[in-house]
Amino acid sequence: MADLWTVLGPIPAETLGHSQIHEHVFVRHTPMADKNPALQLDDFDRSLAELKDYRAGGGAFLADAQPVAAGRDALALERLSRESGVAVAASTGYHLLGFYRPDCWVHALDEEGLYRLYRSELEEGMLPWSGDDARRPETPTAVRAGLVKAAIPAEGAVGRYETLLRAAARAAADCGVPLMMHTEKGAHAPEAVRLCFKMGVPPEKMVVCHVDRQAADFAPHDAVAALGVYLDYDTIGRFKYHSDEEEVALIRHMADRGWGDRLLLALDTTAQRLAAYGGEIGLRYLLDTFYPRLAEAGFSAGELSLFSTGNCRRLFAG
Ligand SMILES: [Zn+2]
Repeated sequence: MADLWTVLGPIPAETLGHSQIHEHVFVRHTPMADKNPALQLDDFDRSLAELKDYRAGGGAFLADAQPVAAGRDALALERLSRESGVAVAASTGYHLLGFYRPDCWVHALDEEGLYRLYRSELEEGMLPWSGDDARRPETPTAVRAGLVKAAIPAEGAVGRYETLLRAAARAAADCGVPLMMHTEKGAHAPEAVRLCFKMGVPPEKMVVCHVDRQAADFAPHDAVAALGVYLDYDTIGRFKYHSDEEEVALIRHMADRGWGDRLLLALDTTAQRLAAYGGEIGLRYLLDTFYPRLAEAGFSAGELSLFSTGNCRRLFAG
């Protein structure tokens, strides 16, 4: 039985219950929060209340998608998991460069240095949040990351992003953990996925995020799914992009094409969307609102169970 590393230690992936693969539940200040304050989520009591509510609503597991030196606080995630009862896998890896201060220490690392950083966070322990981005923390925590986050901008994996993606993919491949890649509506995703394959990541360990920020044109979704990777659909209840009805139609299309076993549903939460921060929905939105909507639209219990649980178990176990 394969183990999945949560912030509280290893658990068998086969025991995961309702899962959401891409959330943000506690994020310290980053430069991005100066432009969008909803990207800062550092009120411990509110984050804990949100997680307890998720647990009460049937939520069992989530992956936190904020990586090292980009506002992630490993010890806060550990406490939140312990006190809420929600299993949490944390991310190493990198996010869009706008999340880092210009003097942040990670900018100085070459591909090998980045690779070693990501591996050590998976195998030994994550670095703590220190509040001083200019200096690399010396002593890691005992809390391990469980997956690798990556990101490509609209231009694709070019320049510094190619170096970062190569290092992230190598670390995920060598440690046998999922690689979860942020995209801008799927732009240049197929090329970036192929680069990850070249670095050794198998299709069944790769998750491509946010292609569903655009749900009207199915062609980019088909192109990514044809590579055999997972798609994280997390633009649910985000009405500035599209309605939930459009999301349901997209999921119907993908299931009809035979890719129902490659879809992972999540919310990619910010303070604007977490109920405990005064936001519009809450971590329970999929459980309370969206899964019932899928059932009304004719999805079977078996399909819903795959989206909510089975696919995530297979991603970590396989
Ligand atoms: Zn995200």
